[in-house]
Amino acid sequence: MSDELAIEVRSLRKSYGSVRALRGLDLEVRRGEIFGFLGPNGAGKTTTIRCLLDLIRPNGGTARVLGIDPQADPVAVRARVGYLPGELRFEEGVTVEGALRFLNSLRGGRADWAYVRELAERLSLDLRAQIKNLSRGNKQKVGIVQALMHRPELLMLDEPTVGLDPLMQREVLRLVAEARAGGVTVFFSSHNLPEVEEIADRVGIIRQGLLVETAETRALIGRALRRVRVRFREPIRVAALADVPAVTVLSEDEGLGVTLQVEGEMDALIKRLATLPVVSLETERPSLEEIFLAYYQ
Ligand code: ATP
Repeated sequence: MSDELAIEVRSLRKSYGSVRALRGLDLEVRRGEIFGFLGPNGAGKTTTIRCLLDLIRPNGGTARVLGIDPQADPVAVRARVGYLPGELRFEEGVTVEGALRFLNSLRGGRADWAYVRELAERLSLDLRAQIKNLSRGNKQKVGIVQALMHRPELLMLDEPTVGLDPLMQREVLRLVAEARAGGVTVFFSSHNLPEVEEIADRVGIIRQGLLVETAETRALIGRALRRVRVRFREPIRVAALADVPAVTVLSEDEGLGVTLQVEGEMDALIKRLATLPVVSLETERPSLEEIFLAYYQ
């Protein structure tokens, strides 16, 4: 285990009956980085996080969290990690503050209450409200406060902004960025790709229980994958472009316009376009969302 790594996973396997959720997952999250964990529904993101906290036991492989084996010392891991689960469950008959105090007592009472009040204020969360009366979004805020309140070294956040309105989403991203600026490592799963693109230093893409790609967010976006929009003076046969190597037709407008995705060099496409009545051509780099979709299509 390297001291540089906050999370180190080797060949992690987990099955639920006949469902193989993790099939030998390898993953490294460096200390101090924000790592976005992406993947389609059912890919194994939550299962990974739950194994890292010893909430479930893997069938094989190893995991280290802040240098600790979660199975050997789950209490130490949970004391040093701030965890926001995907599905929040709270005691019903208590106030927000009561719920937070209870969760704090489970973690050795290390929360900083001045910080709790600051977080609640920033998230417009009423500490005196009854948990049972809270909306889904307000419950999510309680989840965020409890993940941050003991100032953990590592945050593991399962879809942190889900259910929040856009202003609150921004505030949560700000809190995450501030935590990182203070030296905290952040490991979060998300389906909100613009947000991942905005805050993650690196991303990992999981698919069917295996990590299929890890990259610096900027490098992934900057990779030689481009979107090209072409307009034509008269309708063309789009099939004339579909067979150009490394070109995928994303959409077309009755032969008068096409949107293409090009992987690698533009040379073959430009030569083919030279034989067609082109009016205009625009290229742009794709968003993380498009790169992600390209993986699955
Ligand atoms: P999502 O993006 O939808 O939250 P995920 O990437 O977090 O998905 P997991 O929840 O880890 O995926 O699920 C991985 C696989 O394991 C899925 O096929 C899921 O149906 C299955 N699974 C998860 N939990 C259980 C369980 N308790 N019992 C049986 N199967 C489960």
